[in-house]
Amino acid sequence: VQQTIGIIGGGQLGRYLCRSARALGFRTIVMTAEPEPPAASDADRILPGAADDLEMTETLLREADIVTFEIEAVGPAVLERLAAADAAGTVSVRPGAGVLAILRNKASQKRWVAAQGLPTAPFRVFDDAHAALTPATLAGFDLPLVQKAQVGGYDGRGVHILRSAADLERLLPGPCLVEDFVEHVAELAILVARGGDGEVRCYDPVALRFEPDHHILDQVLAPAVLAPALADRCRSLACATVQALGGVGVFALELFLTPADEIIINEISPRVHNAGHLSLEACRTSQFEQHIRAVAGLALGSTELERPAAMRNLLWRGVVAPAQRLPPTLPGNSARIHWYDKTEGRPWRKMGHLTALGDSAAAAAAEAERACQAILTLTNGACG
Ligand code: ADP
Repeated sequence: VQQTIGIIGGGQLGRYLCRSARALGFRTIVMTAEPEPPAASDADRILPGAADDLEMTETLLREADIVTFEIEAVGPAVLERLAAADAAGTVSVRPGAGVLAILRNKASQKRWVAAQGLPTAPFRVFDDAHAALTPATLAGFDLPLVQKAQVGGYDGRGVHILRSAADLERLLPGPCLVEDFVEHVAELAILVARGGDGEVRCYDPVALRFEPDHHILDQVLAPAVLAPALADRCRSLACATVQALGGVGVFALELFLTPADEIIINEISPRVHNAGHLSLEACRTSQFEQHIRAVAGLALGSTELERPAAMRNLLWRGVVAPAQRLPPTLPGNSARIHWYDKTEGRPWRKMGHLTALGDSAAAAAAEAERACQAILTLTNGACG
């Protein structure tokens, strides 16, 4: 009988998970409250419920054999219900409700990373920004610092870099943590798959570039240009971290490389990640197929990078506006464009992405840049 994979979250990550699941012979059911979820194009069924909707979770549990996630901000009560169902043996929850419970909140994630003795920036937790964190609370600390919302932040929302006294007057509301600003020469990411038998396989480290004002991921290059010994240290750190976490599926680590060649963990995601989009075109096994293989108990695929690649996010740069229909390919350019079929453009919203392959990451980046410029021209600067 055909097995059903339930996915909590229905964005573009969910779309590609559904596509891979279907190709491997699974049925998919996606739980999301979004009115126009990008995953709808590829899911067999959409359950209209947010990630903290207990009632809809019951429906999901009745219909799915396996439950997995494309977001980590899942409600604690939903996680408890999933943990109970997994323990009762009626469904496999993967990577695991316990792993989600640790990673969904940046404070509990940082505490876990520090308790494991893994390298991460020193931090302090503030449970109520208004009561506990004030400019005065930070008087004894050296700037720059980074304030992060404990839950619900994404794409740079929920991250506030404190460089000056004026920044201290604009603290984010709500439970947060404050950590040292890590001086870095590069930001890297590494994807790791952990199979049902505990086997761990790493992808090659990739280099991340962020849009400077909004901290939104803008470009990913594969492979990251790193001395082989450094790339190996990234791999061993990532594998050790995922082994320590346990859980089954694809994970992503975001890392800082310091001027002294230290590798510092910024963030761990218990899911496929924007940094792995280029695996669709550039790797033997895409991160999406790999995640489905892992959660479904199939053998993991090869993580080999077959061709150097560059991925660019296509961000909405204008005001709120209906999104135009844009072409899937551009004349004279080899980049593969993916649009997420979002009908409304909102500032800095991810509308799609594109991936170019090349003989080197630099050549791929140049081709991707030409494609982005062409899209900017087509949209009069609104998207690119
Ligand atoms: P998000 O949840 O939006 O991915 P991150 O924690 O990854 O949030 O932060 C977004 C970006 O902000 C990082 O990629 C990095 O550029 C910057 N940043 C975050 N934390 C630090 C830090 N401690 N030191 C320096 N830069 C940081």
